[in-house]
Amino acid sequence: MAIPVPNDVTTFQNNWRFCNHCYTLWWNGRPDNGACPSGNSPDGQHHGQGSWDFYLPADPSGAI
Ligand SMILES: [Zn+2]
Repeated sequence: MAIPVPNDVTTFQNNWRFCNHCYTLWWNGRPDNGACPSGNSPDGQHHGQGSWDFYLPADPSGAI
């Protein structure tokens, strides 16, 4: 199934994962997984066991 991508999108970033504790996406390209705000993560970081590898569309020229 093709999903329409806005014309402003010029790139994609992969390695976004779904956290099993706070149910949000976080970028998995750092040495740690970043702070998880759920309050129920065993080590306070995001965890994504079983997560898909999500790609986010982006327009770098729109940086502020
Ligand atoms: Zn989390």
